[in-house]
Amino acid sequence: CGIVGYIGNLDSKEILLKGLEKLEYRGYDSAGIAVKNEDGIQIFKEKGRIADLRSIVDEDVLAHVGIGHTRWATHGVPSRGNSHPHQSASGRFTLVHNGVIENYDLLKHEYLADVSFKSETDTEVIVQLVEKFANEGLSVLEAFRKTLTLLHGSYALALLDAEDNNTIYVAKNKSPLLVGLGDGFNVVASDAMAMLQVTDQFVELMDKEIVIVTKDVVTIQNLDGEVISRAPYTAELDA
Ligand code: GLU
Repeated sequence: CGIVGYIGNLDSKEILLKGLEKLEYRGYDSAGIAVKNEDGIQIFKEKGRIADLRSIVDEDVLAHVGIGHTRWATHGVPSRGNSHPHQSASGRFTLVHNGVIENYDLLKHEYLADVSFKSETDTEVIVQLVEKFANEGLSVLEAFRKTLTLLHGSYALALLDAEDNNTIYVAKNKSPLLVGLGDGFNVVASDAMAMLQVTDQFVELMDKEIVIVTKDVVTIQNLDGEVISRAPYTAELDA
Protein backbone atom coordinates (compact mmCIF):
# COMPACT_ATOMS: atom_id res chain seq x y z
CA CYS A 1 0.00 0.00 0.00
CA GLY A 2 1.11 3.56 -0.57
CA ILE A 3 0.15 7.15 -1.26
CA VAL A 4 1.27 9.85 -3.67
CA GLY A 5 0.33 13.49 -4.18
CA TYR A 6 1.27 16.15 -6.73
CA ILE A 7 0.69 19.89 -6.92
CA GLY A 8 2.31 22.07 -9.56
CA ASN A 9 2.56 23.26 -13.12
CA LEU A 10 2.28 19.90 -14.87
CA ASP A 11 -0.71 17.62 -15.34
CA SER A 12 -0.89 15.35 -12.30
CA LYS A 13 -2.51 12.15 -13.70
CA GLU A 14 0.52 10.51 -15.26
CA ILE A 15 2.80 11.49 -12.37
CA LEU A 16 0.36 9.92 -9.90
CA LEU A 17 -0.08 6.73 -11.94
CA LYS A 18 3.68 6.32 -12.43
CA GLY A 19 4.19 6.96 -8.73
CA LEU A 20 1.62 4.31 -7.81
CA GLU A 21 3.35 1.83 -10.14
CA LYS A 22 6.58 2.42 -8.23
CA LEU A 23 4.71 1.59 -5.01
CA GLU A 24 3.23 -1.66 -6.35
CA TYR A 25 5.98 -3.68 -4.67
CA ARG A 26 4.47 -2.74 -1.28
CA GLY A 27 1.41 -4.86 -2.10
CA TYR A 28 -2.19 -3.75 -2.71
CA ASP A 29 -5.65 -4.94 -3.73
CA SER A 30 -7.12 -1.70 -5.16
CA ALA A 31 -5.97 1.68 -6.39
CA GLY A 32 -7.38 5.12 -7.01
CA ILE A 33 -6.62 8.74 -7.77
CA ALA A 34 -8.43 12.04 -7.24
CA VAL A 35 -7.54 14.98 -9.46
CA LYS A 36 -8.68 18.54 -9.05
CA ASN A 37 -9.10 21.42 -11.45
CA GLU A 38 -11.46 24.39 -11.93
CA ASP A 39 -14.33 21.99 -12.72
CA GLY A 40 -14.00 20.26 -9.34
CA ILE A 41 -12.60 16.97 -8.08
CA GLN A 42 -12.77 13.80 -10.15
CA ILE A 43 -12.16 10.38 -8.65
CA PHE A 44 -11.08 7.26 -10.51
CA LYS A 45 -10.75 4.09 -8.45
CA GLU A 46 -10.96 0.36 -8.99
CA LYS A 47 -10.28 -2.98 -7.36
CA GLY A 48 -7.30 -4.68 -8.97
CA ARG A 49 -4.13 -3.54 -10.70
CA ILE A 50 -2.79 -0.08 -11.48
CA ALA A 51 -3.18 -1.09 -15.12
CA ASP A 52 -6.96 -1.44 -14.49
CA LEU A 53 -7.01 2.00 -12.88
CA ARG A 54 -5.05 3.46 -15.78
CA SER A 55 -7.65 2.15 -18.22
CA ILE A 56 -10.51 4.07 -16.51
CA VAL A 57 -8.71 7.40 -16.00
CA ASP A 58 -10.11 10.01 -18.38
CA GLU A 59 -7.19 11.18 -20.54
CA ASP A 60 -8.91 14.48 -21.25
CA VAL A 61 -9.07 15.70 -17.66
CA LEU A 62 -6.18 18.07 -17.04
CA ALA A 63 -5.49 18.79 -13.39
CA HIS A 64 -2.54 20.37 -11.62
CA VAL A 65 -3.42 18.88 -8.23
CA GLY A 66 -4.00 15.24 -7.34
CA ILE A 67 -3.62 12.44 -4.81
CA GLY A 68 -3.35 8.69 -5.33
CA HIS A 69 -3.52 5.49 -3.29
CA THR A 70 -2.86 1.80 -3.37
CA ARG A 71 -4.95 -0.01 -0.75
CA TRP A 72 -4.17 -3.05 1.33
CA ALA A 73 -7.61 -3.57 2.89
CA THR A 74 -7.74 -3.77 6.69
CA HIS A 75 -11.35 -2.64 7.34
CA GLY A 76 -13.88 -3.52 4.65
CA VAL A 77 -13.45 -5.96 1.78
CA PRO A 78 -11.43 -5.05 -1.31
CA SER A 79 -14.02 -3.36 -3.54
CA ARG A 80 -14.47 -0.22 -5.57
CA GLY A 81 -16.57 1.37 -2.80
CA ASN A 82 -13.98 0.72 -0.12
CA SER A 83 -11.03 1.82 -2.24
CA HIS A 84 -9.57 5.25 -1.73
CA PRO A 85 -9.86 8.23 -2.22
CA HIS A 86 -12.81 8.68 0.16
CA GLN A 87 -15.00 11.77 0.35
CA SER A 88 -16.86 13.59 3.10
CA ALA A 89 -20.67 13.70 3.12
CA SER A 90 -20.93 16.92 1.06
CA GLY A 91 -18.04 15.95 -1.21
CA ARG A 92 -15.99 18.94 -0.06
CA PHE A 93 -13.06 16.88 1.29
CA THR A 94 -11.24 14.01 -0.41
CA LEU A 95 -8.74 11.79 1.41
CA VAL A 96 -6.29 8.94 0.94
CA HIS A 97 -5.00 6.99 3.95
CA ASN A 98 -2.53 4.22 4.63
CA GLY A 99 -2.63 2.65 8.07
CA VAL A 100 -5.22 1.68 10.65
CA ILE A 101 -7.39 3.91 12.86
CA GLU A 102 -7.92 1.81 15.96
CA ASN A 103 -10.64 3.98 17.54
CA TYR A 104 -12.65 4.62 14.36
CA ASP A 105 -15.79 2.99 15.73
CA LEU A 106 -15.70 5.06 18.90
CA LEU A 107 -15.16 8.27 16.92
CA LYS A 108 -18.02 7.36 14.62
CA HIS A 109 -20.44 6.98 17.50
CA GLU A 110 -19.20 9.95 19.46
CA TYR A 111 -18.97 12.55 16.67
CA LEU A 112 -20.62 11.24 13.52
CA ALA A 113 -23.81 9.50 14.62
CA ASP A 114 -25.89 11.49 12.11
CA VAL A 115 -23.57 10.99 9.12
CA SER A 116 -24.40 8.25 6.62
CA PHE A 117 -21.20 6.45 5.70
CA LYS A 118 -20.48 5.38 2.13
CA SER A 119 -17.80 2.75 2.86
CA GLU A 120 -16.86 0.14 5.45
CA THR A 121 -13.40 1.59 6.00
CA ASP A 122 -11.84 3.04 9.13
CA THR A 123 -10.52 5.79 6.83
CA GLU A 124 -13.88 7.39 6.12
CA VAL A 125 -14.13 8.52 9.76
CA ILE A 126 -11.15 10.82 9.19
CA VAL A 127 -12.58 12.67 6.22
CA GLN A 128 -16.03 12.94 7.83
CA LEU A 129 -14.48 14.41 10.99
CA VAL A 130 -12.61 17.05 8.98
CA GLU A 131 -15.88 18.09 7.34
CA LYS A 132 -17.75 18.13 10.63
CA PHE A 133 -15.20 20.42 12.27
CA ALA A 134 -14.98 22.66 9.19
CA ASN A 135 -18.79 22.94 9.24
CA GLU A 136 -18.54 24.02 12.87
CA GLY A 137 -16.43 26.98 11.77
CA LEU A 138 -12.84 25.81 11.99
CA SER A 139 -10.42 26.57 9.16
CA VAL A 140 -9.44 23.49 7.16
CA LEU A 141 -6.06 23.41 8.85
CA GLU A 142 -7.65 23.62 12.30
CA ALA A 143 -10.25 21.00 11.40
CA PHE A 144 -7.52 18.67 10.12
CA ARG A 145 -5.42 19.26 13.23
CA LYS A 146 -8.35 18.66 15.58
CA THR A 147 -9.15 15.42 13.73
CA LEU A 148 -5.56 14.19 14.02
CA THR A 149 -5.51 14.79 17.78
CA LEU A 150 -8.49 12.38 18.07
CA LEU A 151 -7.00 9.53 16.03
CA HIS A 152 -5.37 6.49 17.63
CA GLY A 153 -3.41 4.34 15.24
CA SER A 154 -1.24 4.68 12.18
CA TYR A 155 -1.71 6.97 9.24
CA ALA A 156 -0.16 8.55 6.21
CA LEU A 157 -2.74 11.01 4.87
CA ALA A 158 -3.23 13.38 1.96
CA LEU A 159 -6.31 15.62 1.94
CA LEU A 160 -7.86 17.84 -0.76
CA ASP A 161 -10.38 20.64 -0.16
CA ALA A 162 -12.73 21.26 -3.10
CA GLU A 163 -12.82 24.95 -2.16
CA ASP A 164 -9.04 25.37 -2.46
CA ASN A 165 -7.09 24.75 -5.67
CA ASN A 166 -3.70 25.45 -4.18
CA THR A 167 -3.14 23.11 -1.25
CA ILE A 168 -2.64 19.46 -0.30
CA TYR A 169 -2.78 18.80 3.45
CA VAL A 170 -0.59 15.94 4.59
CA ALA A 171 0.11 14.18 7.89
CA LYS A 172 1.75 11.04 9.20
CA ASN A 173 1.97 8.83 12.26
CA LYS A 174 3.74 5.47 12.25
CA SER A 175 3.26 5.08 8.48
CA PRO A 176 5.91 6.24 6.03
CA LEU A 177 5.52 9.53 4.15
CA LEU A 178 7.89 12.13 2.79
CA VAL A 179 7.85 15.30 0.71
CA GLY A 180 9.66 15.82 -2.59
CA LEU A 181 10.63 19.33 -3.68
CA GLY A 182 10.56 20.60 -7.24
CA ASP A 183 10.79 23.79 -9.25
CA GLY A 184 7.17 24.86 -9.74
CA PHE A 185 5.77 21.77 -8.05
CA ASN A 186 5.93 19.69 -4.90
CA VAL A 187 5.09 16.03 -4.31
CA VAL A 188 4.46 13.64 -1.43
CA ALA A 189 4.74 9.86 -1.28
CA SER A 190 5.22 6.85 0.95
CA ASP A 191 8.58 6.13 -0.65
CA ALA A 192 11.14 8.29 -2.49
CA MET A 193 11.04 5.72 -5.31
CA ALA A 194 7.62 7.05 -6.31
CA MET A 195 9.01 10.57 -6.80
CA LEU A 196 12.40 10.02 -8.43
CA GLN A 197 10.68 10.51 -11.79
CA VAL A 198 10.38 14.23 -10.94
CA THR A 199 12.86 15.11 -8.18
CA ASP A 200 15.80 13.96 -6.04
CA GLN A 201 15.23 16.56 -3.29
CA PHE A 202 13.38 15.24 -0.25
CA VAL A 203 12.26 16.41 3.17
CA GLU A 204 11.79 13.85 5.90
CA LEU A 205 8.63 13.99 8.03
CA MET A 206 8.25 12.98 11.66
CA ASP A 207 5.26 11.41 13.36
CA LYS A 208 2.43 13.78 14.26
CA GLU A 209 3.51 16.47 11.85
CA ILE A 210 1.11 18.29 9.52
CA VAL A 211 2.38 19.55 6.20
CA ILE A 212 0.73 22.23 4.09
CA VAL A 213 1.91 21.67 0.53
CA THR A 214 1.44 24.23 -2.25
CA LYS A 215 3.23 24.22 -5.59
CA ASP A 216 5.85 26.66 -4.27
CA VAL A 217 5.95 26.20 -0.50
CA VAL A 218 6.05 23.30 1.96
CA THR A 219 5.20 24.23 5.56
CA ILE A 220 5.68 21.67 8.34
CA GLN A 221 3.93 22.12 11.68
CA ASN A 222 3.56 20.06 14.79
CA LEU A 223 0.12 19.39 16.30
CA ASP A 224 0.50 22.56 18.41
CA GLY A 225 0.70 24.60 15.22
CA GLU A 226 4.38 25.47 15.67
CA VAL A 227 6.27 25.74 12.39
CA ILE A 228 9.20 23.36 12.03
CA SER A 229 12.09 24.00 9.67
CA ARG A 230 13.94 21.04 8.21
CA ALA A 231 16.55 21.05 5.46
CA PRO A 232 16.01 18.88 2.37
CA TYR A 233 18.45 16.14 1.37
CA THR A 234 19.47 14.83 -2.02
CA ALA A 235 18.61 11.20 -2.67
CA GLU A 236 21.25 9.14 -4.40
CA LEU A 237 18.99 6.53 -5.92
CA ASP A 238 18.34 5.46 -9.47
CA ALA A 239 14.83 5.98 -10.81
N1 GLU B 1 -7.28 0.91 6.79
C1 GLU B 1 -7.52 1.49 5.49
C2 GLU B 1 -8.46 0.61 4.68
O1 GLU B 1 -8.66 -0.53 4.97
C3 GLU B 1 -6.22 1.75 4.72
C4 GLU B 1 -5.50 0.50 4.32
C5 GLU B 1 -4.15 0.77 3.65
O2 GLU B 1 -3.18 1.11 4.36
O3 GLU B 1 -4.06 0.66 2.42
O4 GLU B 1 -9.02 1.07 3.74
